[in-house]
Amino acid sequence: MDKRVARYAPSPTGPLHLGNLQTALGAWLQARLFDCEFWLRIEDLDVSRCKPIWTNKIVCDLNWLGLNWDKGPGKCDSKYWLQSERSDYYKSVIKTLAETHRLYPCICSRRDIQELANAPHGPLGSVYPGTCRKRLATTTFTNLFEYECSLRFAVEPTKLDFTDMILGKTTMQAGTDFGDFVVYRKDAVVAYHLAVVVDDVVAGVTDIFRGEDLLSSVFPQLCLYEAMQETPPRYWHAPLRKDDKGDRLSKRDQSASLQSYIDQGASPAQIIGTLAYGLGLVELECELTADELLNSLDPDDFIQALRVVQSRAD
Ligand code: GLU
Repeated sequence: MDKRVARYAPSPTGPLHLGNLQTALGAWLQARLFDCEFWLRIEDLDVSRCKPIWTNKIVCDLNWLGLNWDKGPGKCDSKYWLQSERSDYYKSVIKTLAETHRLYPCICSRRDIQELANAPHGPLGSVYPGTCRKRLATTTFTNLFEYECSLRFAVEPTKLDFTDMILGKTTMQAGTDFGDFVVYRKDAVVAYHLAVVVDDVVAGVTDIFRGEDLLSSVFPQLCLYEAMQETPPRYWHAPLRKDDKGDRLSKRDQSASLQSYIDQGASPAQIIGTLAYGLGLVELECELTADELLNSLDPDDFIQALRVVQSRAD
């Protein structure tokens, strides 16, 4: 049987809240139930927002909950799991995409795009109108990373679909629902879609379990899999945890952070029980360890429970 690999990939922009941890628990259970090697990858590309202190806190919080990993902090060299150390590799992939005429330099600012009259809007924000696309055929890249502009991936207009393990079949029209997207930012930061796909390909990731807020990001990512001639993984997009008012939790709201529950005396088993209830894996909020929860589930129950919770949230 081929090796299966799964991952949890938080951004260290603040302390993890119960919503982040609910996804982490889901990703860990999915990996363990489906015999996947489990990676913890730290997505700290945007150095202005990410801080090493939060990376350390993520590691502590996951350990405290009993969610262990096979590759990641403390298990292998940081060049495999810390995105800020992988820029040269991302750039080598960007270079290949440029050489095969999948990228072009773009001088439009975010404001230029928003200010265009009737700028179309899709599920991923403003759809880039293609102002700089004429450069696709004409640009010969010599010093690719020295232009003071961003690099955009040229999307082929086509209908894309995939079947999510929880949400079922999902479709988007490339070129209409989303347009040419940035893979390298003007401020010299590798963009999210590119880094995520490259890292998942290199690690051999077969299963991606994450929050449903990232569902629409699958489609630009599928374009990159196609351009890199790689097979996309299976996706699992799980319901997000909401606060009492029905709003998504935010890292800015410290009261939702795990630390605030620890400070009030919560035990790991209480938090796991709460998160498991949020995922629909237990009938009542109860106390149980991560291993006890894992041992109580089988793969089919896990999928069914997530689908039921999702259908209730719709
Ligand atoms: N780093 C992203 C986040 O913290 C997750 C990216 C992914 O799972 O693809 O929201």
